[in-house]
Amino acid sequence: MKPEEQIKALAELDGIKICESFACGCNRTLEKLNYLTSYDAIIPLIQKQNVPTITRISLNLSMAQNGTAKAFAWLKATPSQLCEALLRATGKWKE
Ligand SMILES: [Zn+2]
Repeated sequence: MKPEEQIKALAELDGIKICESFACGCNRTLEKLNYLTSYDAIIPLIQKQNVPTITRISLNLSMAQNGTAKAFAWLKATPSQLCEALLRATGKWKE
């Protein structure tokens, strides 16, 4: 999944509506969203998720780090890894 595709899917999860038109301000909105690089952006979005989703994120992070214990996997995860784990946990990840 390309970074732009990930940001768009994460924005939708965050309740930010992004349309396909180039005439409006959506592209500029997308440019300001830094989920992939900022804990300050991705952590609040994860905090909004329900318990089953957070449980799946935890498992995804552990698996992505070769079975690292879940608590440590959260601590070691980069913002980009948190984004992928969230997108996978919500069925929005595309290979
Ligand atoms: Zn728009």
